[in-house]
Parts: sequence; C-alpha cells; structure tokens
Amino acid sequence: MKFADLHLHTQFSDGTFTPEELVLYAQKHGLACIALTDHDTVEGCARAGAAAAAVKMEFIPGAELTAEHADTEVHILGYFLDTHNAVLLEKLARFQADRQNRIHEMCAALNKHGIPLKAEAVFALANCKSPGRPHVARAMVKEKLIGNLDEAFERFLKKGRPAWVPKTKMSALESVQLIHQAGGLAVMAHPGLNRTDEIIPDLVAAGLDGIECFHTKHSTVMAERYLEIAEKHNLLVTGGSDCHGFSKKAPLIGTVRLPYEHVERMKSFLQARATASK
Ligand code: AMP
Ligand code: FE
Ligand code: FE
Ligand code: ZN
Repeated sequence: MKFADLHLHTQFSDGTFTPEELVLYAQKHGLACIALTDHDTVEGCARAGAAAAAVKMEFIPGAELTAEHADTEVHILGYFLDTHNAVLLEKLARFQADRQNRIHEMCAALNKHGIPLKAEAVFALANCKSPGRPHVARAMVKEKLIGNLDEAFERFLKKGRPAWVPKTKMSALESVQLIHQAGGLAVMAHPGLNRTDEIIPDLVAAGLDGIECFHTKHSTVMAERYLEIAEKHNLLVTGGSDCHGFSKKAPLIGTVRLPYEHVERMKSFLQARATASK
C-alpha cells in the first residue's frame, strides 16, 4: 500500500523543518507522496519538490490559504498549484505584507502589557515572508519573556487575549477561485477544528473540490462524519498530519497516512476538468 501526507508545513511559514528535512522525515515514514501546504505561501515548493524528486518521492505543490466565510476563519488548501501563477503570487504577496504588519501590531500590544518583545526579534527568528503567531510565541520563549509556547498563546496570543490581532483574510469564495485560476484543487482544511460544518454547502456552491477528512485533530467519528459529507456533496477526500516540525512536541508527520488512491482520484479529477475546459 502507498500512503500520502497532504498537509505539511516548513520554515517558509510556521513549521520548523527546512523543505529538505521534511522530505527526509517523509522518507523515514515510508510516504510515497507529500504535499507542502505552508500558510499563505508557495515559496518552499521548489526546494521540497527538488528534494522529493532526488529520492523519487511524489510531490504536490500546495498552500494553506487563510480565508473567512460568514465571520468564521476557514483554511482552504490548494493542491497542484502552478507556483509561478502571477495572480496567485501577487495575492500571496499582499497577504504576506499584512502578516508582517501584524507582527508589528502584536509586538506593540505585548509591549503595552509589559512584554518588551521587539518585532525585529520575531522577524529574525521567523526568517520568512509569512510570519505568524507561532513565531511571536517562539521569540517570547527565546527572549525568556514567557515560560513556554502554550503560555504565550493562552495569556497573550489566542483570540480575545491582549496581543491577539486579526489577520486580513480573503473570502473563502475568492480563495477557491484563486486556487482554480492557478490550476489547483481547492480543499477545505480540518473542518472538525473550526466546527463550521454549516458553511460547507456554501463552499461547495463556490466550487470547493474536496474536504480534509483525515487530520491529526479529527477523531475517528469526525473522520467518518466528513467522509459522509464528502460523499453527499461528491467531494474529493484528502488528509494530512498538519505537521509543523518540532514546534510543539514530536513531529506529527507519519501520524496520518492517506491511502494513495485518494491522490489518484485528485489527479483524475484535475485531468477531467482540464479536458472539459478544452
Ligand atoms: P496565525 O496564522 O498567525 O494566526 O497563527 C496560526 C497558527 O498558530 C496555527 O496554524 C498553529 O500553527 C498555531 N497555533 C494556533 N493556536 C495555537 C495554540 N493554542 N498553541 C500553539 N500553536 C497554536
Ligand atoms: Fe500553522
Ligand atoms: Fe490550518
Ligand atoms: Zn496547517
């Protein structure tokens, strides 16, 4: 049996692995195929693709787009993206600039609450265009301003806490279109995490292609529920570990193993779409 992991992060967003390390870990876990889905960026895809090719592993270029629908944050995964697509890159650059501004805002809020963290320290640690709250938390720990990452989120960074700053998000409908115009498949990420099942029909109407049924934080019952929803709406089924490297505990890669037949279905679906549009 061949297996895939279609939800992975690197240092190009908030993971700790380089693209090369990610491929090494994937190899260690015997995965036949991986997709890189960094938050709001496709920058790591070239290196991950090259590293995967060197060990004859299949690689799918992807991204995890931050979007919203009906006032709830929803993450939309894009797969088989053309990572040179100008419209996609232009849009991502704007979201990256907003993420960088947000770091300044979060640091200013922390400063007001007695945590003297400088934005420069976060940027130095993040060393990427798509920084986020995990980088702020890690910088706080590194500068010995807080005990650990969880405490940073609990006391300051999670929604409703003093240094929480909302992110600029595109609408979920727009993210689906953006992915489609870049040649990709649009998949709703970890629906069980956000508890936003009621928005699924709207996303399907907007052209959603698939749903992430298997995810580290989905129980078996949840996975079954989303498999049923996928069948009902005729959606592709995906899954992945959402591994962020060593950012929390042991790397999650290898904990979710998607049977490869789902990747085959994704490819057939894309091919059928390409044929239909000719
Ligand atoms: P951001 O995109 O900047 O809002 O950060 C969201 C990221 O922070 C998620 O993708 C997770 O990697 C991480 N995250 C969210 N909540 C927590 C938490 N309570 N503890 C640790 N990491 C978290
Ligand atoms: Fe993340
Ligand atoms: Fe996510
Ligand atoms: Zn993710």
